Amino acid sequence: MQILQVSAEYFPLLKTGGLADVAGALPQALRPLGCEVRPLLPGFAAMLDGLAEPVEVGRCLTPWGQPLRLLRGWLREPASGPQAASSITSPASTGIQAYVVESAELYLRPGGPYETPDKQPHADNQRRFAALCWVAARLAEGFDPSWRPDLVHGHDWHAGLVPAYLAAAGSRVPCLFTVHNLAYQGLFPRADYEGLGLPAQWFQMEGLEFYGQLSFMKAGLYYADRLSTVSPSYAREIQSPEFGCGLDGLLRQRQGVLSGILNGIDDRVWNPLHDPHLPVNYGSDSLELRAGNKAALQAELGLEVRPELPLFTVVSRLTEQKGLPLVLAGCDALVRQGAQLLVLGSGDSALEAAFAAKAAQYPGRVAVRLGYDEALSHRIFGGGDVTLVPSRFEPCGLTQIYGLAYGCLPLVRRVGGLADTVTDADLVTLDEGQASGVVFDRMEQGDFDHAVRRMLALYRRPADWRQVQQTGMRQPLHWGDAAARYQALYRAMLPIATLAGGR
Ligand code: ADP
Repeated sequence: MQILQVSAEYFPLLKTGGLADVAGALPQALRPLGCEVRPLLPGFAAMLDGLAEPVEVGRCLTPWGQPLRLLRGWLREPASGPQAASSITSPASTGIQAYVVESAELYLRPGGPYETPDKQPHADNQRRFAALCWVAARLAEGFDPSWRPDLVHGHDWHAGLVPAYLAAAGSRVPCLFTVHNLAYQGLFPRADYEGLGLPAQWFQMEGLEFYGQLSFMKAGLYYADRLSTVSPSYAREIQSPEFGCGLDGLLRQRQGVLSGILNGIDDRVWNPLHDPHLPVNYGSDSLELRAGNKAALQAELGLEVRPELPLFTVVSRLTEQKGLPLVLAGCDALVRQGAQLLVLGSGDSALEAAFAAKAAQYPGRVAVRLGYDEALSHRIFGGGDVTLVPSRFEPCGLTQIYGLAYGCLPLVRRVGGLADTVTDADLVTLDEGQASGVVFDRMEQGDFDHAVRRMLALYRRPADWRQVQQTGMRQPLHWGDAAARYQALYRAMLPIATLAGGR
């Protein structure tokens, strides 16, 4: 089976969130199942750098007349060490071939993949991602004479126009569209629709219009053959007005083709037994070794180096979604009860400033690192005691899964993928060996504070604490299961003739 995977991010080349982790893990995870997944990526500098031995597949003009060059090459292995990403370049080391859409005008510029350096969306984002989607449809129709996908799998709004372009071309290649976060929709003024090369009459409610605007997300939801999202709970939640971001009606209409497949964890990158970012490696049978990581982390961040103080941590985009106002408002109580707080994150300026102020208020007890630091995030999971994820909504969430795998107990809200991955510690779940963290229900300060107190009470019971750590670490959340589910979904979408042909 040959799958073209379309995403704006790809770990280890370019990552702003969980989308990259998933896009980077799926091609490898699906390979043993007989699926050859080739990523198609926009030509950001990091993507071009990550493509070894590039060859030109062809040149073309977008519907609005922009020249593009399509490259094919071999992707580097996800980093298994601080220098690994740049040291492994041989094709044999990955076996993953990928396509990159090259256009300096569209993709090479200062700022992030979606935003300018001052955090404004790039003014031509509709064209930057429409170009990606348009090339996907060209590939499905044979643009690369040496390889043609049986199916296209698009991820998030950046790939939302893929099924629309496929439909416009009359393609018979089916498309799966996966939602990683419904809140980011790729909305653009009506005028931006012109020139994209899609039929004018599709700009309507029964199409890709969302209240007078062009919606890439709605295009994906409307035109794809099948839809998936990254946890079963989120698949249910987005069909309700509370979580549906205005698209719940369409999602209810399409519920027959919508499923939820929980993300896995990439064992090559996230395993405390061989994680090269950790000062000390450990496993579920050698948890006492974590103390070395905790001490190193406390020292590195300027926290008091005291093993007995419970170390609460946050690794997150700093956005409203992540429920961080609860952590801010709960910080004083947390410190009063003898805990430490360590935050690694970047995003919303007001949240950044508020966390920085807490660090200034509680030197030695609260530490904040603003920015994005992959290596430090590993050290935090490997040395912290608690991973806080009190999200308002959470499609899947990976940080609580990393917390589980590293024995850094998750404290989460019962929503989306958090509800699907963490089992609240109570007397029954402890007794049955099911407890893997602390879960609270309502988005209210009292509920969060109470969850913190429950976590602290658990911390004072070292035998129970250790058992909960071990339960989480032994929980099978590896990509194998998820990959088998994606494979089954792909198979269900393909014509019998393709399957019979052995692909
Ligand atoms: P989302 O995709 O909504 O941001 P997820 O929990 O699904 O949330 O994925 C977030 C990913 O980004 C995780 O791999 C997490 O470790 C990583 N991450 C988030 N913020 C930072 C940061 N400041 N530094 C390093 N890694 C981060």
